[in-house]
Amino acid sequence: MNHYHYKCSNCNSKFPIEDIEKDSKYLCPKCGKAEKNRPLQGVLWIEYDYDKIKNELNKDTFLKIPAGRFWEYPNLLPLEFNSQVKNFTNINSEQLDRLQLNENPLLKYEIDNHPVLVFDDTRNPTLSFKDRASSLVALKAIQLGINEIAAASTGNAGSSLAGICARLGLKSHLFVPSTIPTGKKIQIQSFGAEIYLVDGDYDAAFDLCLEVSTKKGWYNRNTAFNPLTIEGKKSAAYDIYIATKGDIPDLIFVPVGDGVIISGIYKGFWELKKLGWIEEIPKLIGVQAKGSDALVRYLEKGQFEYFPASTIADSICAGAPRNLYMAADSIKKSEGFAVSVSDEEILAAQKIAAHKMGLLIEPAAAASFAGYLKLKEDEMIQNKKAMLLFTGNGLKDLDSLMEWNVQSEKKTVEEWKNYFELKIIQKF
Ligand SMILES: [Zn+2]
Repeated sequence: MNHYHYKCSNCNSKFPIEDIEKDSKYLCPKCGKAEKNRPLQGVLWIEYDYDKIKNELNKDTFLKIPAGRFWEYPNLLPLEFNSQVKNFTNINSEQLDRLQLNENPLLKYEIDNHPVLVFDDTRNPTLSFKDRASSLVALKAIQLGINEIAAASTGNAGSSLAGICARLGLKSHLFVPSTIPTGKKIQIQSFGAEIYLVDGDYDAAFDLCLEVSTKKGWYNRNTAFNPLTIEGKKSAAYDIYIATKGDIPDLIFVPVGDGVIISGIYKGFWELKKLGWIEEIPKLIGVQAKGSDALVRYLEKGQFEYFPASTIADSICAGAPRNLYMAADSIKKSEGFAVSVSDEEILAAQKIAAHKMGLLIEPAAAASFAGYLKLKEDEMIQNKKAMLLFTGNGLKDLDSLMEWNVQSEKKTVEEWKNYFELKIIQKF
């Protein structure tokens, strides 16, 4: 018997693996819809036999698994695994070792006398959180016998897929808005991926990628569209659980663009609760940029309205968050909420993270910090164990760093000596 099945997050229909994976289906065969500038309908999620897992794996054994080695809990992954010989079909241990994520993601700080936990995913193989999804998707492609993978991306998912594919010997195709930050574009190209610059926004790149990859028979890593993107990202919840030795935070600030990271984190904690290893799921606080706040508006009004998005935080710039409904549901079920921050607040938080924490993070990651700074005196936050999720490295987007760093001045050696008022020693 298979150890997992797919379930529609919209109509609740269940599907065996063959119905979805055999013909590379991604959305619910009954109600799934991918429409222009709209959140996806019928996003699938994956469920396991949790009662069986409880008998095979106990909490103490799980907590001994090092952080960042998601393949060490194969019964909680949608991959073919032979438990007799402890092997993944068609995947060897050398390949898995190349996918090691940050093994020390938990950092502790004090901000204005408030203790704050940071979950640092900027030190993953390609320097972003997206490696969690790309790795699982790439392993699935190998098992399906497909060696070309496509994705639409604002940058990080693209550079992540490109790097992970290069590590595993696969070919990747990335559809990105032409406004992509140079650092991310060069990162994608350097890994040898094919890059297609789209004269349009992320939403346009997303739709184009779906069309082309279907035609070409490439495996698709579009976020939310491929349910393994959500499943891959759940490993962050497991790593938070492992890194805190089970003493998980009360609330987690999560940057939200398409809504897949927050849905994945919710899924991971939901499973830990289902397994009886935690009592409560941390409150998830979704942080969006003011110019890209579809989730905040959806939670307020109860309906989706499309507006083209614009923010300095390119990674969370999405007018039509593809996983909007699941993200909203995750926030509600965790008893959390969503908040928006301005680009100025994001840049200010980015500067504080660099100066006071020594962490160079990109604007999307700084959004979670900006959300925290905005609310830290609030009753809901005070005396609670708060965690910030840092999702991407700052060097991926130099322009945003240049917004608040002053231009360095050039002087001759003599001029610098005068500047420091040093006496010029004559040589004899
Ligand atoms: Zn459905």
